[in-house]
Amino acid sequence: MSKTIPVHRNQYIDVTFEDLTHDGAGVAKVDGFPIFVPGGLPGEKANIKVIKISKGYGFGRMEELLQRSTFRVEVTETEAHKYGGCQLQHLSYEGQLEYKENQVRQVLTRIGKLENVKVHPVLGMDNPWHYRNKAQVPVGERDGKLISGFFKPRSHEIVDTNESLIQLPEVNEAIQTVKEICSELGIKAYNEETHKGVLRHIVARFGKQTGELMVVLVTRTSDIPHKSKLVQEIADRLPNVKSIVHNINSKKTNVIFGRETSVLWGNEVIYDSIGGVKFAISALSFYQVNPVQTKVLYDKALEYAELTGQESVIDAYCGIGTISLFLAQKAKNVFGVEVVPEAIEDAKRNAELNGITNAEFAVGEAEKVIPKWYKDGNKADVLVVDPPRKGCDEALLRTILEMKPAKVVYVSCNPATLARDLRILEDGGYKTLEVQPVDMFPQTTHCEAVAKIELR
Ligand code: SAH
Repeated sequence: MSKTIPVHRNQYIDVTFEDLTHDGAGVAKVDGFPIFVPGGLPGEKANIKVIKISKGYGFGRMEELLQRSTFRVEVTETEAHKYGGCQLQHLSYEGQLEYKENQVRQVLTRIGKLENVKVHPVLGMDNPWHYRNKAQVPVGERDGKLISGFFKPRSHEIVDTNESLIQLPEVNEAIQTVKEICSELGIKAYNEETHKGVLRHIVARFGKQTGELMVVLVTRTSDIPHKSKLVQEIADRLPNVKSIVHNINSKKTNVIFGRETSVLWGNEVIYDSIGGVKFAISALSFYQVNPVQTKVLYDKALEYAELTGQESVIDAYCGIGTISLFLAQKAKNVFGVEVVPEAIEDAKRNAELNGITNAEFAVGEAEKVIPKWYKDGNKADVLVVDPPRKGCDEALLRTILEMKPAKVVYVSCNPATLARDLRILEDGGYKTLEVQPVDMFPQTTHCEAVAKIELR
């Protein structure tokens, strides 16, 4: 049975927005037919133009805002604002936190079929701007000069900007300075179309607590022209720099890093600390991008683990061992597992650095290593998972259901896969007690949450 679509392409129509999608677009309904319009906020009325009709929904463009939401905030029309990946910047911060709380609630009900789970108000930031400790920007060329910044939406055209509103000032400055130096030395940008040129990405990482800066130059070629001059200039002009690293990526790909990494100057790592635990971070390892909120997130994970000092803990997807070492101080022992070998090297170094002797780390896929541990008799009392956006592998969830740790703490950067995985755990005998969203990514639609789960 096909229903007629009540709008047609290129039609202008007045609508009222009822909701926001998970990527921050306003949702209007015309006779029940949803139309997604970037920039619209719930409660607002607008005249829109219908741009595209797909099966079951359409897309529109805002033509004129007819009635404003009280949650709308004025946004300056700079390119940094327009293209900087801040999809929610036109929504007040209070509104953003409410949006994220609703997101979590909705997916828990819709995808997880979990009624009655306590979802707490989102823990937000006092100052929700300039928080990111890392940037990786693509480099291009215009009029013989290097440019870098953001891609225009749905394109590979680079918008040249030195100012990201969500990166720490030290990170913005590092990117800008390296770009200038490379420009002065006549280093060519990589060209995606011709697969020629040299410099693909500039990456900057900054330890907020220590003030240490790392610069990573990603190039297509194994040689960098004027390498020693380049390195000297970076070290001179960026006094915080402690590590300059070269990564070679000679492939035709969207993936940023290639296989080969070497240190050009200084240390292989920079250091940072969270809640008194010190961490070494190498160029390719995952490290949370919002240092202020990371502490809030980890404290919550620690609280939900309810450790007494007697527990054996497994930290799956452990990265450089951040959560593992946080928990090790309160547990009998911790076993961390992570797929990136460099991250595990960092994790081991980090345990040593902090004099923590009850944490062990293994390289491998969590879904393969943890079943092996279980077979060998290593049973956890508490299992922490912090998977990438796609969520936990099914094999890992099955192992959890067999192993039956008394508690599972699920740290998630994607509420939809969190809800999906919680359903599997519920069906296998676990109960989700509460969920605490933490705003790790203000101005964006990304949403982080920690769930406390117990064996029934
Ligand atoms: N808990 C860490 C890292 C979380 S990010 C922190 O808070 O910093 C998720 C991590 O999972 C990344 O380091 C990624 O490399 C790793 N990862 C991705 N797939 C994996 C898998 N199948 N098994 C183990 N680790 C994996």
